[in-house]
Amino acid sequence: MDYFLTEQQLMIRETARQVARERIVPVRAELDEKEEFPWEVVKACAAADLFAIWVPEAYGGLGGGILDLCVCVEELSRACAGVAVSYAASALGTIPIVLFGSEEQKAKYLPDVAAGRKLGAFALTEAGAGSDASGVQTTARRDGDHYVLNGTKQWITNGGDAETYTVVAITDRSRGPRGASAFIVEKGTPGFTFGKKEIKMGIRSSSTRELVFTDCRVPKENLLGREGQGFIIAMKTLDKSRPGIGAQALGIAQGAFDEAVAYSRQRVQFGHPISSFQAVQHMLANMAIKIEASRSLIYSVARFIDSGVKDYSKESAMAKVFPSDTAMEVTTDAVQILGGYGYMRDYPVEKMMRDAKITQIYEGTNQVIRNVIGLALVKEFAKHVQA
Ligand SMILES: Cc1cc2nc3c(=O)[nH]c(=O)nc-3n(C[C@H](O)[C@H](O)[C@H](O)COP(=O)(O)OP(=O)(O)OC[C@H]3O[C@@H](n4cnc5c(N)ncnc54)[C@H](O)[C@@H]3O)c2cc1C
Repeated sequence: MDYFLTEQQLMIRETARQVARERIVPVRAELDEKEEFPWEVVKACAAADLFAIWVPEAYGGLGGGILDLCVCVEELSRACAGVAVSYAASALGTIPIVLFGSEEQKAKYLPDVAAGRKLGAFALTEAGAGSDASGVQTTARRDGDHYVLNGTKQWITNGGDAETYTVVAITDRSRGPRGASAFIVEKGTPGFTFGKKEIKMGIRSSSTRELVFTDCRVPKENLLGREGQGFIIAMKTLDKSRPGIGAQALGIAQGAFDEAVAYSRQRVQFGHPISSFQAVQHMLANMAIKIEASRSLIYSVARFIDSGVKDYSKESAMAKVFPSDTAMEVTTDAVQILGGYGYMRDYPVEKMMRDAKITQIYEGTNQVIRNVIGLALVKEFAKHVQA
């Protein structure tokens, strides 16, 4: 299928594909086994200008849109989703600065991000605040020219490895959902430390860690937007980034499909390659249909967002749910096509199946995301009836 990508998008795809082929594929199994953060690959992505994609040109970036970012994430994930999420989490952590940062904040933080010298991270989740972000307990109390942060964030991707964190904390509990604010917190700020590092089922080369704030004094200049805008900033950021999770899932599914087709052509049973059996062909056909449907949805939604429309929560949610369910189904079928070999670590589909699962969970579980879609549909219907 030709998706009529721009010259820049084609260049990004080719560059990311090359980094994936040359720098990720040879080390992915070892990174996964050792749960090692992929610093060498991060450096290769930086050298290839991939961290510049989502940063505006005025701050050293390429000024690309969501489709540019999705194309890159897809290609990196096709090789290894653990590496790809370390890359994508830097976008998630710094898109709030692109969207809501002041001129000074953008000029201070974005050039290092665009150059890949510093990674970003996004910190909303806490032990008691998962799907229900209103459960956030971390507080930020104004004290003169500073805010004083106290609390613990959980499961933060790039935790410990990133330098620039967007952190959501409560500034005024009495204001309910309007009582949260977002802050840029730099690694090394006194009172900001890192806690438990998680051991995970998949995306094991990415780091997932606690952030601990103990009387951590953050300059008032690091408040993003206005006091009380914290949840709006978080939700607008997630609306922008969810197609990127879809792209991660799509890359995983494509990678598993590639392996399954190649294997089916060389594995001989009953005197024939297993690719000649109709049952296997039907599985491959179903995998290919779902992959292409996912790609069509992600690219269309990304273009819709890049066109400048204001409200795209529903579409963005769709571009996360369908591809992530697809990734789980396709990787499971890929393991099935490889039979017992698919279950062994000698072949990459076992890792891909483990990696796929998280795409149904983070940035909103697929149940909660379906709630978002359902609510939007009901509202749209009500508006339509009133008109
Ligand atoms: C590897 C990893 C990396 C992560 N990285 C980050 C990060 O960088 N930054 C960050 O802030 N967070 C991060 N998270 C957190 C992630 O976004 C949350 O795990 C996710 O939002 C779900 O929250 P929860 O795990 O607490 O599940 P819960 O909210 O406890 O949900 C448990 C189950 O209940 C269901 N459920 C809950 N509420 C509803 C409802 N209203 N309707 C229907 N079903 C419901 C869910 O679908 C799920 O099946 C990460 C998580 C993981 C595992």
